[in-house]
Amino acid sequence: MPATFTKTFDTPTYKGTITIPLGLYINGQHVDPVEGGSIEVVNPSTGKVITSIAAGTKADIDIAATAAEKAYKTSWGLRVSGTERGKLLFKLADLMEQRIDQFAALDALANGKAYKTAYGRDNTGGIAVLRYYAGWADKISGKTIETNDKKLSYTRHEPIGVVGQIIPWNVPMFSLTLKIAPALATGNTIVLKPSELTPLSALLFTTLIEEAGFPPGVINIVNGYGPTAGQAISEHPIIRKVTFTGSTLTGRKIMEAAAKSNLKPVTLELGGKSPTVIFDDVDLEQAVKWAIHGIYFNHGQNCSAGSRIFVQEGIYDAFLKQFTEQALAIKVGDPFQEETYQGPQVSQTQFDRIMGYIEAGKVDGAKVHLGGNRIGNEGYFIQPTIFTECQPHMKIVREEIFGPVACILKFKTEEEVIEQANDTTYGLAASVFTKDIDKGFRVAHAIEAGNMWINCSNQAEIQMPFGGYKQSGIGRELGEYALENYTHVKAVHVNLGLRL
Ligand code: NAD
Repeated sequence: MPATFTKTFDTPTYKGTITIPLGLYINGQHVDPVEGGSIEVVNPSTGKVITSIAAGTKADIDIAATAAEKAYKTSWGLRVSGTERGKLLFKLADLMEQRIDQFAALDALANGKAYKTAYGRDNTGGIAVLRYYAGWADKISGKTIETNDKKLSYTRHEPIGVVGQIIPWNVPMFSLTLKIAPALATGNTIVLKPSELTPLSALLFTTLIEEAGFPPGVINIVNGYGPTAGQAISEHPIIRKVTFTGSTLTGRKIMEAAAKSNLKPVTLELGGKSPTVIFDDVDLEQAVKWAIHGIYFNHGQNCSAGSRIFVQEGIYDAFLKQFTEQALAIKVGDPFQEETYQGPQVSQTQFDRIMGYIEAGKVDGAKVHLGGNRIGNEGYFIQPTIFTECQPHMKIVREEIFGPVACILKFKTEEEVIEQANDTTYGLAASVFTKDIDKGFRVAHAIEAGNMWINCSNQAEIQMPFGGYKQSGIGRELGEYALENYTHVKAVHVNLGLRL
């Protein structure tokens, strides 16, 4: 019987005791990993180990995939009506809502994000996602298509079977729910691997699955490292589809493994280097606030972070002054304090990576206008940082930093800024700020990005598709579009009198 972990919190935002199982959740049970491996989960606010959880490997993924296949064939898929699948998803949402404070506390602890964000955004959003797809479960249908008088022709949207899902650490429960909900609504069974950095809330989630009424094997949650458990999901022959959120580098490896094994299709939500374009004619105060939110929300650890801020020359100085004042006012500190906006970066590795980019920016000749340093000597806290005098060729302008680092660039004309905004291998998101409605639409349509925000930034609505152009990904998640990731389309031709 795998161990459990209990922690008592006495913080300004959360007081209570949480107990979670530490094993792998396979076929409706918590089990120890075949090879007995473990992962130390670290508190990024202190750098100290919180607990050790079980780490699955290829052997555990194999058991989970086999259980998921059996469940698909015997107790899920089209054997269970959409109404019933929806009912279980609604129940799961209710159970998650009853413990939302615990989910938020575990994410604040292991990820370092502000408790208020974990509660009000990630987990509130995650519950809404479960309900949104619960509502879709009994509305999955094909079309009748007119062909000729002697035929009835129609399509069916059928589940794919066992799907593999691999998620990152930056929005742990939102990522988990937006992956499992459409897959379950459409009748698939799941083998999901959380990030090794933030597995605690996913472990709490495993305690709700049976109570919600899901048959054993429908949802399997297997913690483990990427190159072992993650790779095993990508190349497993029973798994017929992989959806992944994470870095472009890992996305490429997953696609390769998927192609080499059973040619399983992939949906990839990858990195970004999103432009924020601010024209002279804006409501400056609002543009500054949105640009701050665009880059510094979630400590800059957003795939869609507006990390390249292009400001038109007429308001450049005024923008920089106000932007600097607001960046300076950001409250960095303990994620459990009421007023905290920015906690630590998630890990030593991410901390070192971001500090490495800050050094590279200096070496390349950009100017550290604000910040650039570590805060304190415990945990992974970094000052909100602003680089000015940035040039398009610099590493800090080209590569995803995934930290609280803004690059500000000056531009003159609309044509020039569109060209620069598109001068990137990524294409996840972009913002444009202007009071000229024609210009707003023109620029929004000219920028190559899957998500476009006019006079706002960093927006995701569960009803709207989310995904990237270019190397930011393949396919779309959220909204009705995500249902396509988890269904095959079958074309059925019925003879109503054709004679050979
Ligand atoms: P990552 O690619 O390092 O890890 C993501 C997941 O992949 C983890 O669960 C990890 O264990 C697993 N993994 C690592 N190597 C693997 C391999 N060889 N095979 C299979 N799985 C493997 O990314 P991260 O550091 O966790 O997350 C940050 C990245 O995620 C950023 O690039 C960010 O832009 C991106 N992201 C994208 C979106 C989006 O919707 N486009 C959303 C959030 C984060």
